[in-house]
Amino acid sequence: MVVEIILAGLLLIVAVVWFAKRSKSDKNPLAGSEQTSSPENLAVTSLLDATMTGMREGLLVVNRDMRVVASNPAARKLFNPSVATLQSQRLTELTRNPAIYSAFLDGLKGIERSGVKVETHGPERQIFDLRVVPIGSTNGNGAEGALGVFFDITRTERLEIVRQEFLSNVSHELRTPLTAIIAFVETLENGAIEDQESCQRFLSIIRKNASRMHILIDDILELTAIEGGNVRLRAVPVDLHMLVQDVCASLAAKASAQNVTLKNNVEPEAMVYADERRLEQMLTNLIDNGIKFNREHGTVTISYESDTRDKIMVQDNGDGIPSQHLERLFERFYRVDRARSRDMGGTGLGLAIVKHLALLHRGEVTVTSELGKGSTFTIHLPKAP
Ligand code: ADP
Repeated sequence: MVVEIILAGLLLIVAVVWFAKRSKSDKNPLAGSEQTSSPENLAVTSLLDATMTGMREGLLVVNRDMRVVASNPAARKLFNPSVATLQSQRLTELTRNPAIYSAFLDGLKGIERSGVKVETHGPERQIFDLRVVPIGSTNGNGAEGALGVFFDITRTERLEIVRQEFLSNVSHELRTPLTAIIAFVETLENGAIEDQESCQRFLSIIRKNASRMHILIDDILELTAIEGGNVRLRAVPVDLHMLVQDVCASLAAKASAQNVTLKNNVEPEAMVYADERRLEQMLTNLIDNGIKFNREHGTVTISYESDTRDKIMVQDNGDGIPSQHLERLFERFYRVDRARSRDMGGTGLGLAIVKHLALLHRGEVTVTSELGKGSTFTIHLPKAP
């Protein structure tokens, strides 16, 4: 946020210089006497013009009557993309937002305003940090005009919300096993330690919850590393049949404990182009889910198809996922049935990890599901270059 504030300040200085130059060369209504432009002056003015035209921040100058006397394309896009120019329009015609109006009003009174948060409510909600400075001579009657810079902070604000949600989710997820651990330690301290049978049972619950916290922290670190761009892929041709075979072998005990059969339907000659370790991680997460959310004597089938992209399908014949959940399924901590996921030792981060790894491969992961019939998760990967 500090960087944005410094940037906004710098932009404001550039904008004021631009306006001052423009006023002189354009006989702007706010300008004083006309001056002859030297070649140097013209060069600086066109450089500033180009900067103002190219910048993402909206720039708006109003005169004492609150009419627009200068604006850049970003401001036009923000207020009224359908018109060629905002020139001469009243500020009240452009916006009904009282925060914008009062900031410009203060500017005209000679008061500088900054940090005014402005939100647009169109189809694409945007959030701006507005700074307004008075311009022209500020005598007892206030300023001759006011210049506002609309600094787009939509992305920063969104990231902040995501960060807060993430932190609150993490705290919540850690609190549950931690509470269980503390409760059982206290029970042991209060005498249960003397009873051999309860002692063993409570210790195993403590271990289970501690390992849940461990897995959760590992998943969080993994996801943070992938999202932070700290994971580098080494894509190579991968023997998919063999890889699926290995993943199935590592999950065989879990599958048989749940009476689920794993079927590798990938032909022996199938090759894909991927980072082998990361593909293994994706397949492990998807097949593991196929086992966890399956029914007794269910099956998880892994198959491969190739058209414009390579497609690896992990299909189960479990209960399926209600359609209203599908869109959000790959979000961090999103679960259809929180209690069931927890019982299964899930962290709610597995699919988010798969999604980000697929994106890192310049591919994607998709899901289709039918209630009562099962779900199919498909990893789409670009073909070898
Ligand atoms: P978890 O640790 O809970 O498995 P995931 O991110 O891997 O977290 O999955 C998120 C949620 O998506 C799960 O809690 C479950 O509700 C649902 N889900 C994932 N895979 C399947 C599947 N094959 N069948 C039914 N539901 C699934």
